[in-house]
Amino acid sequence: MQPRDLSDHIAYEAGRGIEEVARELGRDPSEFVKLASNENPHGPSPAAVVALREAASSVSSYPKAAHADLTAAIADRWSVTDDQVWLANGGDGALDYLHRATIEPDDTILVPDPGFAYYGMSARFHHGDVREYALEREDDFEQTADAVLECYDGDRIVFLTSPHNPSGSTIPLADVEQIAEETDEETLVVVDEAYGEFADRDSAVALLEGRDGFDAREDVAVVRTFSKAYGLAGVRLGYAVVPDEWADAYTRVNTPFAASELACRAGLAAIDDDGHVSRTVETTENSRAYMREHVDAHVWESEGNFVLVDVEDASSVAEAMQARGVIVRDCTSFGLPGCIRITCGTDDETERAVETLNEVLADLNL
Ligand code: PMP
Repeated sequence: MQPRDLSDHIAYEAGRGIEEVARELGRDPSEFVKLASNENPHGPSPAAVVALREAASSVSSYPKAAHADLTAAIADRWSVTDDQVWLANGGDGALDYLHRATIEPDDTILVPDPGFAYYGMSARFHHGDVREYALEREDDFEQTADAVLECYDGDRIVFLTSPHNPSGSTIPLADVEQIAEETDEETLVVVDEAYGEFADRDSAVALLEGRDGFDAREDVAVVRTFSKAYGLAGVRLGYAVVPDEWADAYTRVNTPFAASELACRAGLAAIDDDGHVSRTVETTENSRAYMREHVDAHVWESEGNFVLVDVEDASSVAEAMQARGVIVRDCTSFGLPGCIRITCGTDDETERAVETLNEVLADLNL
């Protein structure tokens, strides 16, 4: 027995951790800083750490109550009903649930190129296929309704990533509305706001709910995660906010107890710790500004917790930076050759990254 033919599936590249890199290079892990996976440089909220410790003794029970409490807290945060919140194993899990709920065999999804690989992977699990719309480097990866609609061809889901990974560009809500308006009734527009806290923008939840002058829509869903601004990437916690009309679909698509007791308890503590999120956002804004000002190469404007840098020879630059102890992401795996993505770190980490990158660029004559 073999798994079904997965040869046309893209393998998920999770990026390597400090321990793995240090082991391979025969060096001490303390020599490295990792700015490759858009993790929170301040770690988790201290309140979440306390909650995780306290929750440890109750993990013999299924997470029913904590699950309901967290769902209610998130629903309250967005002023939506509890039924509209689909807790999941990270933002990835939420993307998967949206596919489970919508994709029929041979349906297509429309995704940005370059873009986040898991959209396509997840669609293929459900026997769907992938089509792409281009975000043009020459246009600073600008996202517009017209560019998306030009490529649209009755796809079941249109994915918008705002802020976009790996460029950091965003799409205005008026453009999201136009896309939802001009696509078929049977098309769902998913706005992936994994990096939403770092952008000075309103969430597309406003479109689902008919707020801020928009008409309420039944064809938009929003994905959010606790992995980035909340610093909980390791517990795997994310969610989708879905239209009111989808009320009973969740229990038909979710993995039973979609988020663990530990994840739910950590999420409940983290969602109340506004101070941690605002400190993280402030550090991110400082780091983005510093990199844009001091890197000796083109750095695109970003509203995420990372910046994209045009370095021409991404694999040589990423490798040379890694040898000097700074791990960054070569964007070739996003379908974007010649660029690296650097996560916003603490002030010290950011300064080290910039100094290292500038040395490497000078050494390689780039
Ligand atoms: N969407 C985008 C655009 C992402 O970059 C990521 C994380 N890399 C996710 C979703 C999924 O996040 P999570 O870690 O919560 O699964």
